[in-house]
Amino acid sequence: MFDRASVVTPGGVNSPVRAFRAVGGTPRFMVSGTGPYLTDADGREYVDLVCSWGPMILGHSHPEVIAAVQAAVSRGTSFGTPGEGEVALAEEIVARIEPVEQVRLVSSGTEATMSAIRLARGFTGRSKVVKFAGCYHGHVDALLAAAGSGLATFGLPDTPGVTGATARDTVVLPYNDLEAVRAAFAAHPGEIACVITEASPGNMGVVPPADGFNAGLKELCVANGALYISDEVMTGFRTSKAGWYGVDGVSPDLMTFGKVMGGGFPAAAFGGRADVMAHLAPAGPVYQAGTLSGNPVATAAGLAQLRLLDDAAYAKIDAVSAELRSLVGDAFTKEGVAHTVSSASNMFSVFFTDEPVRNYDDAKKQEAFRFTAFFHSMLEQGVYLPPSAFESWFVSTAHDERAVERIAAALPAAARAASEATA
Ligand code: PLP
Repeated sequence: MFDRASVVTPGGVNSPVRAFRAVGGTPRFMVSGTGPYLTDADGREYVDLVCSWGPMILGHSHPEVIAAVQAAVSRGTSFGTPGEGEVALAEEIVARIEPVEQVRLVSSGTEATMSAIRLARGFTGRSKVVKFAGCYHGHVDALLAAAGSGLATFGLPDTPGVTGATARDTVVLPYNDLEAVRAAFAAHPGEIACVITEASPGNMGVVPPADGFNAGLKELCVANGALYISDEVMTGFRTSKAGWYGVDGVSPDLMTFGKVMGGGFPAAAFGGRADVMAHLAPAGPVYQAGTLSGNPVATAAGLAQLRLLDDAAYAKIDAVSAELRSLVGDAFTKEGVAHTVSSASNMFSVFFTDEPVRNYDDAKKQEAFRFTAFFHSMLEQGVYLPPSAFESWFVSTAHDERAVERIAAALPAAARAASEATA
């Protein structure tokens, strides 16, 4: 299948993270998923610790989500008109997350962050965007810029195809460094439209914000007339009922969501202060649109999933995550492997270093070659991990005792493989 895919699709995948470039080998083609398990085209079953990179928080093929999808599909798949499902999903988001007074639905996290940035620029009349190295906000041109450190350094394009002009409006700063943000505002007075940050980063591995970092960002934005955008595409409806906002209580001006809120379908959103959202077309002048935005099948899936995510569901996910973190840590300790199990609520990942990891530079200092050996051993033993040392692991309400036992059984050999690995 990979050979077939590689003929008709660049690199054989439709999103680079799915390829095994970082770890080597051939990506598994999955044909079905049930609860915490995925089955590949060769009939092998895996305990899934990727959960579609976050969305499958109830596990695969949850019967109530599937029933909601089937009911929606039977009524038609797209109308290109307003519909009740999108209103209900927006109401659910607004009810859960206090700073979100209004929300606009889109189809991907990338669209959400792209639109939030445009709105911030339109609202403030300013051009520059501050982002942090190691934070991923989708493949938005302006947000793919990652520059060398230093305040006065303008962003350089991280990928061919992003022009220098676009990148020049992006200021890239080290994560967890409020002094750098303060200095950036001083260096560009009246020019910064917004600061965008992952609410708690999961795209350089899991690197939670230091105490007071998000609150400090908010303060600096208020003091300098810029908007504070919290990207909760990954953390939203996962790290608590109200996402990371439910953990740290810092009120952003705008927020972005995706993954969990779509129930496994392409649905995402951005929202926030009503006075800012009022600038969005057709209420205001900032244009934004989408043929499939608020799609009735996607919104039915998302709504069914969110309605099942009550306090008991989060307690269960948190408990499974804590158990796995301790099993994983113990396995590495037993083999003498330097490691840090880093977590933010129920999201976690392992860094192969025992030095503190506070930003992307720290994360890159880990012995990532150990992850490669660990990953392949786990895969061979039927545990599907993200194929990179710089990604969060995800669990679901469906990860029961049997699934945890299977992971626990695979860990000793995989930790040994990590300890024996050489660069
Ligand atoms: N923002 C964050 C924090 C993400 O983790 C991602 C995707 O992983 C995105 C935005 C982009 O979302 P999508 O892949 O749906 O475009």
